[in-house]
Amino acid sequence: MREKFPFFAAHPDLVYLDSAATSQKPQDVLTALQDYYVNANANVHRGLYELAYATTAHYEAVRAQVASFIHAAKPSEIIYTRSTTDGLNLVASSFGPQVVKPGDEILISGAEHHSNFLPWQQLSHRLQAKLVVAPVTATGDTDVEAVAQLITPRTKLLALAQVTNVGGGEVALAPLAQAIHDVGGYLIVDGAQAVAHLSVDVQALDADFYAFSGHKMYGPTGIGVLYGREALLEQMPPIQFGGEMIDEVLDQSATWAEGPLKFEAGTPNIAGVYGLGAAITWLMTQDRAAIAQQERSQVLALRQALAAIPGVVLYGSDASIGIVSFNLTGVHPHDLATFLDEQHIAVRAGHHCAQPLMARLGVPATVRASFGAYNTIADGARLAAAVQEARGFFL
Ligand code: PLP
Repeated sequence: MREKFPFFAAHPDLVYLDSAATSQKPQDVLTALQDYYVNANANVHRGLYELAYATTAHYEAVRAQVASFIHAAKPSEIIYTRSTTDGLNLVASSFGPQVVKPGDEILISGAEHHSNFLPWQQLSHRLQAKLVVAPVTATGDTDVEAVAQLITPRTKLLALAQVTNVGGGEVALAPLAQAIHDVGGYLIVDGAQAVAHLSVDVQALDADFYAFSGHKMYGPTGIGVLYGREALLEQMPPIQFGGEMIDEVLDQSATWAEGPLKFEAGTPNIAGVYGLGAAITWLMTQDRAAIAQQERSQVLALRQALAAIPGVVLYGSDASIGIVSFNLTGVHPHDLATFLDEQHIAVRAGHHCAQPLMARLGVPATVRASFGAYNTIADGARLAAAVQEARGFFL
């Protein structure tokens, strides 16, 4: 598997355990990026010449491919964005004011990434609504029961990660979808940590919106996706204005394009769309069940090895999806990460853009190892051995 990722040829000694921050890219994705610039470089939805038609057709074909990847009912429910962050902000800015009124509630979990926290915090300030933050489990995951209990007739939006980025827990969204819809609210799902690992079905999840980033699923940076139910997208106003998102522009008024183009003002990240399409093709031609099983084994093995080291505190659970977060008591996570870096082991240490979660866990930061399709059990074993060594070095 590693030979499909040129990054590892460039860094043969590196143990890369930071795929939750960003994944490495298979050759197919790099080839697609180059293919766009060498063979297909033309703007989309504008040119009246053959090449521009072909590039536009590919740009729209990838939209259909994305729709099928997450099982959306129609390609027109897929908006290209820059990232998960961009998609969630779009929902907050465009859809939020349509349904949230002063005194209403927006419900999130205390385990959310800042990207699925701040848009709702700021929207609630703007609209004089209340942001309700549900408690988390002792090990830093979303507490589904606590979320369910906080849904009231005032809850207009429920925004949750499908997989959290510190604990790595998969959130059972289906019962929450039912509960929020029963009170007339909407479910917004942050899929950033889910799409690389799980088969996502937005219709089975009954999600109203679902956002994710290309770069965490073996695709390029700067391209993301927002899925939205067609009926909701139709009623939402654009929040950015400019080329290609219009139907007609007069001096003093304008009307907007139909469908997702309304939200894609300006020249989009066309190369990113080519790369995203290649990433999906690559993922869909892998044995995804086998990769998921391999990642589960790696998480389990690493957790067991770390648990055997005195002073290690583990977050998340044995069922965590591709993520193992931990601390070594008495050693600052940044010092531990620096020690690991000297041994060519790349992990993330910090608050993981989840400061409210760190506050709930009572720690400033954690160390996080995360796995991708190219990792092996040996990578986790090297990390555990290095943590053992760090214990001797620091304590
Ligand atoms: N949500 C979660 C759960 C994440 O882990 C991340 C990135 O780490 C994001 C949102 C934001 O993703 P991006 O920076 O690609 O917008």
